[in-house]
Formats: sequence, C-alpha cells, structure tokens
Amino acid sequence: MSFAARTKKELTQMRGKPCCDRAELTALLAHCGSVTEMDGSPVLDVATENAAIARRIYTLQKEYSDSPLEVLVQRKMRLKKNNVYIVRMRRDPLEFLAGLDARAGDAVSDRIPPAALRRACCKKAYLRGAFLAAGSVNDPDGASYHLELQSRTRAHARALQALMAEFDLRAKVIERKRGFVIYVKEGEKIVDFLGLIGAHQALLHFEDVRIVKGMRNQVNRLVNCETANMNKTISAAVRQLENIRFLEREIGLDQLPAKLRTVAEQRLAHPEITLQELSEALPEKVSKSGLNHRLRRLDELAQKLRSNRGLP
Ligand SMILES: [Zn+2]
Repeated sequence: MSFAARTKKELTQMRGKPCCDRAELTALLAHCGSVTEMDGSPVLDVATENAAIARRIYTLQKEYSDSPLEVLVQRKMRLKKNNVYIVRMRRDPLEFLAGLDARAGDAVSDRIPPAALRRACCKKAYLRGAFLAAGSVNDPDGASYHLELQSRTRAHARALQALMAEFDLRAKVIERKRGFVIYVKEGEKIVDFLGLIGAHQALLHFEDVRIVKGMRNQVNRLVNCETANMNKTISAAVRQLENIRFLEREIGLDQLPAKLRTVAEQRLAHPEITLQELSEALPEKVSKSGLNHRLRRLDELAQKLRSNRGLP
C-alpha cells in the first residue's frame, strides 16, 4: 500500500466531532459529488475509487439524511481498471444538499460554504475531506516531497489555498489539463498538513523517514568535507616534498639558510608526518605558523630557482 493510501486509510478510521463531520462531508460532496437526472428526478451520486472512503461518505450522509442510500460498484473501463464506488441518493437529494448548504461536484463555484467553516476544527476537517477526495502525497522515501489537492475550478483551488494559508501553510496553485492543483513541496509543510488533517500516524512515519534522510545527508556532507580537506593537505604535502627534493637536487640542502635546512631535512626524513609532528621533530622550538612560514619560503625558493632555469 502506498503512503498516500495508508494516510487515507488512517483518516477514514478517525472519528470527528459532529461540527467537523459536516465540514468533511461538504468537502467530499464538492469533490466527488454530482447531481444528474434519472427518470425525470434529480439523483445525487458521490463517487470514489477507494472503498474505505465510500464507506465514510455513506456513514457521514446517514448522519444528515434519512433518505435511503444505494452503493454501486462499477468497473472503470479506461486506463487503470479500478473499481468505482458510488453512493447514490434518489430521495430528496436537493433538500439534503440545501440543508447542509453544500454543493455537489461540478456545481462547485467560487466559495466554500461558510457554514462548513465556522470553527478552526471544521476548517481542518474540510481540508481532510478535500485530501480524502482529491489529495495525494508522495512516499517520504521517494525522490521528492510532494503533497497536492486537485480541484475542478480555479476559484475553488484559490479557496483551498486561502484555507491552508490560515494555518500558515503557503501552497502554490497551478493549472493542469483537467483542473487545478494546489501543492506543497517542503517536507516541513507536508508534516504540518498531515498534522492539521489528523493523520498522526502518517505524520510520525513521514518525520521518521525525513530525520533519517536528513542525518544521512549530513553525514555525507561531513565525509565530503573531510575528504576535501584531506586532499588539500595531501596535495600541499606532496608539493612541499617535491620542492625540497628539487632544491636538494639543484643546489644541495646545505646551501640553504640553517633554519630552512633543518625543516627541509626533517620533511625529507619524515614525509608523512603532520605539521605538528614536524615542528616537534625540529631541534629548536618553532610555532606552527613559524613552521608554515619556513615551508612557504622553501616553496618560494624552489619556484624562483625553477623560473631562473626556465623550468615549469
Ligand atoms: Zn468542528
């Protein structure tokens, strides 16, 4: 089961407060509902490919209506051959919608019914319904973090974006072939959204994966950094050694000033020791910066000698 499917399963198992149930149902109706005519009378269908969500729609509708409900299963013929579950209301569907101040599917226009959004808890429940009906989230193990809600109209997409902004969640909206997508890309924001809609197990799993990933990146960064430093040290040591050998070959170390000669001799004798160890190997006490200065002087002498002799 994908992370998105597990998140939805968790959400369909939670129990909301009555005020929140109304908000969640309003969102489910807006995204999955449609009113059609059958034998001259209006019929409300609420359709989803997820059986658990169909069960939730059924239960929530029962809270607000005595009209009998039918559940139909259809096999989708195109593309993925998933089942589609339809919760159908034949008796008084328009009265049911009016009672909730809700709209179904294509009727979604510019606004989310304010009656559904009276309290902060209900606003979260509306987002939960929207996620159940038209949301998806990438597995945190995957290449990139991504959570989105789809909407059929620009105005409704903007309304969802504004609703998320009320909880400090800045989402973006883009237009796709079949409607609009409200999306979030930052791991931290996705965690916030999952918390907001009440998917706490999904949130914990997401955080676990994110922390492990973050640690892995940090370790990689440290290793890269150390390797880079080590390479720098090694190439400096190799260059020093080459320069000292060059001086030895071309003029002999005994031609060097005494202070430089001892350093050059010790370096040649112990090519692999650190700067600290090198300074301890010298007959007189020399600070690290003093030692660096002498090594630089040796480099400069070698450079000068090379250019005097027309060498690269
Ligand atoms: Zn509420």
